[in-house]
Amino acid sequence: MSRDFMKIERIGHVYRNAGERVRDFREVEAPLTDKQLCDQAARCMGCGIPFCHGIGCPLGNLIPDFNEAVRQGQWRQAWELLSSTSSFPEFTSRVCPALCEGSCTEGLNLEPVMIRQIEKAIVEHAFENSWVKPAMPEKRLKRKVIIVGAGPAGLAAAVQLNKAGYQVTVYEKNHFPGGLLRYGIPDFKLDKAVVERRIRILEESGIRFETDTEVGRDVSAGYLRGRCDAMLIACGTPVPRDLKIPGRELEGIHFALEFLQGQNRANSGEASSVPVSAKGKRVLVIGGGDTGSDCVGTANRQGARSVMQIEIMPRPPETRSPSTPWPYWPYQLRTSSSHEEGCVRRWELQSKAFSGADGRVRGVEVIPVRWTLSPSGRPQKFEELPGQTETIEADLVLLALGFLKLDRKTMLERLKLEDAPEVFLAGDSATGPSLVVRAIVDGRKAAAQIDRYLSR
Ligand SMILES: Cc1cc2nc3c(=O)[nH]c(=O)nc-3n(C[C@H](O)[C@H](O)[C@H](O)COP(=O)(O)OP(=O)(O)OC[C@H]3O[C@@H](n4cnc5c(N)ncnc54)[C@H](O)[C@@H]3O)c2cc1C
Repeated sequence: MSRDFMKIERIGHVYRNAGERVRDFREVEAPLTDKQLCDQAARCMGCGIPFCHGIGCPLGNLIPDFNEAVRQGQWRQAWELLSSTSSFPEFTSRVCPALCEGSCTEGLNLEPVMIRQIEKAIVEHAFENSWVKPAMPEKRLKRKVIIVGAGPAGLAAAVQLNKAGYQVTVYEKNHFPGGLLRYGIPDFKLDKAVVERRIRILEESGIRFETDTEVGRDVSAGYLRGRCDAMLIACGTPVPRDLKIPGRELEGIHFALEFLQGQNRANSGEASSVPVSAKGKRVLVIGGGDTGSDCVGTANRQGARSVMQIEIMPRPPETRSPSTPWPYWPYQLRTSSSHEEGCVRRWELQSKAFSGADGRVRGVEVIPVRWTLSPSGRPQKFEELPGQTETIEADLVLLALGFLKLDRKTMLERLKLEDAPEVFLAGDSATGPSLVVRAIVDGRKAAAQIDRYLSR
């Protein structure tokens, strides 16, 4: 067991300077040197029972093993280990909240190992050295699989099925494959060249993409079903949660994804301008989660006059709540790089009505709420505090309240597709809104189920 964790501290800050990075859409993280990363990998204790691998990482990444390889400077070996479980480590190493780090044993008393950055360095070494190759099948089969949706779930399933020999075609309504990796997550978290680089490899491996094609509109799902042996629906969660309070019809109130997608399209040149701009505006983001945080970062980059993010839930504790003891993912306050760039954050506010002038939103009436907490500190129920209503002024309101989980029947109805044994669901379409890493795991599992079904 290495004792380096007693001598080496975790590197605290990994971002470019806030004043500089907020002026561009390039990735916010500054690269670390190989020496720094080898030292950070040496902090791994190589625990007898690695909770990071067994409980934290949904992919079951072999974390202590690749940490040890990196500690020794064996990047090629580290890559073999990482790629044995992970489909797209270049995505997860940029956007994953790093569930593994939440269950790192060192987190009990010290800062956890910097697993996410080590993963990123491994995959970037692999790309630089051309170790990332298309996963070709040993034998091409006659059977065809159609996948609807080119997000991380659909792409992960496509890789596995193609490797098993099936003829795979992915239908995607957008111009570029990638799903929310491409059109939701801002470039400052995930550069789109990273997505394009992977798509090229998938194409080289034989996976076909039919983009700009919405299944259920441009081509019927029933028609496609007749042309394949199995079909996988990986359409994500297309319906955002709305805030149906008085004044919702006012101009200047938009769903977060519309705002974020517009900026991503403008950055890539797919659109000449953004449909919703925060420039010079007082921006209010309703919803305190990660999508809301992405809106904060994007609004600041667009030149917002001010940015505020409000949330109905209480402010989480600064450190791990007793309700989520190690090795669980800690319930605690998280401050993103976007928050650091400038944002007022407020909690325990319930939105009651939008107010406006000349048809445009000018503010949101909010009322404070008080939460009752469980003995372990988890919020349980709330009551409004009457008589303390206030109006928060805003010219642009972004609704970042999550997405609705649709059941299988509704999902298939939307595609005008009948339920059938050869139709499978994966990713957010199956689980409800989740994480990139979970979508990848789910896509891999769906591919295994399809393979079993077609091999029966
Ligand atoms: C703004 C935002 C930021 C996020 N940030 C993070 C993050 O930092 N880290 C993280 O882990 N998770 C993040 N998430 C969650 C993560 O992006 C999703 O959980 C993940 O992308 C789900 O993958 P998926 O493949 O199931 O669906 P999606 O990524 O939604 O992909 C579904 C694809 O299906 C296509 N499609 C839908 N209907 C049709 C149709 N009828 N015909 C053809 N194509 C269709 C869509 O265009 C889309 O490309 C974020 C989500 C959002 C909204």
